[in-house]
Amino acid sequence: MFINIHTHHPTNKHIEIANLPTSQTSIFYSYGIHPNEADSTTVIPTNYIAENIISIGEIGLDKLIQTNINQQIKIFKEQLIISEELKLPVVLHCVKAWNEAHQIKKELNIQQPWIFHGFRKTSLLDSILNSKTKISIGTAILYDKKLQDCLTEIPLNHLFLETDDDKGITIEEVYTKVSTIKKLSLQELKKEIHNNFINTFKNVKLA
Ligand SMILES: [Zn+2]
Repeated sequence: MFINIHTHHPTNKHIEIANLPTSQTSIFYSYGIHPNEADSTTVIPTNYIAENIISIGEIGLDKLIQTNINQQIKIFKEQLIISEELKLPVVLHCVKAWNEAHQIKKELNIQQPWIFHGFRKTSLLDSILNSKTKISIGTAILYDKKLQDCLTEIPLNHLFLETDDDKGITIEEVYTKVSTIKKLSLQELKKEIHNNFINTFKNVKLA
């Protein structure tokens, strides 16, 4: 089976974590306040967290958007506390702010797994791996040469795959490209990602 760790357009053909709100239904969801909305939204009420919400996300920090960074940090931290309380892993959105996010991870003594989604900033690889954060690779792997080179350095037990907001490329295509670069069969890659899912989402039972 294919596992898509982060999508805004669930297909219901695979195991997918659909980012809420989405117009399509899914088996699993992530829910959180994106840094884009950190100005205008208050933090999610925990009673909203339904059983099929298995992750808090995408949440994080983004220095390329207008929202004041201190406000982003405030909302991010509040949601991290919820993720720790509810024991839900985080899908992390992080743009030009890894140092800050990493610092917060240490400061709050985060125990829940973090998945750095849409990873492309290859120079951050060592720091991200050292912080025990998992890495999710998206559709950029099909054309980003630097990311393709970097992928060979990413340990399989830290790897997830996703399509994010991309409607034009399927999760099968992402898997196929990654299996070629990693010199694995598609079957082997599926098994590795499946194991990562089970180890990361310990409370989730797959059918
Ligand atoms: Zn997304």
